[in-house]
Amino acid sequence: MANQVEKAGCLCGDVQFEVDPAKIVGQAHCHCRDCQRSTGSAFASFCFVPEDGFRMTSGDPACFEVAGESGGKVRRSFCGRCGSQLFSRVDVMPGVYFVKAGALEDASWMKPAMAFWCQSAQPWTPVMADDVARFDRNPG
Ligand SMILES: [Zn+2]
Ligand SMILES: [Zn+2]
Repeated sequence: MANQVEKAGCLCGDVQFEVDPAKIVGQAHCHCRDCQRSTGSAFASFCFVPEDGFRMTSGDPACFEVAGESGGKVRRSFCGRCGSQLFSRVDVMPGVYFVKAGALEDASWMKPAMAFWCQSAQPWTPVMADDVARFDRNPG
């Protein structure tokens, strides 16, 4: 079960923030090349929450801005000291924070129900649960 407030932060502890689990609007995996590169892994897993469900509590993350597939900007926030990926914001969904599962102190309650950019998923990606909706690119 989710807690009242989900605490999250980076590996070194400089950057910390909180997510209100009651405000979470979705959870997903993303297999796009940018997520593969920035996470250094096969895919990213995250939950997304509007800004009133997100609160910085410590530190000032660095940000890398890149053009997304739609042409809108994707701003990927990470710890400038230890490099941990923390959350992203995208122009196409303003005010929404996409919080990386690995940043959460406890992500065991998560149930990502969607997988984006399956067209660039690595062939050795672990098989996904049958109830995960798969999209070649972004949904919609
Ligand atoms: Zn750090
Ligand atoms: Zn992605």
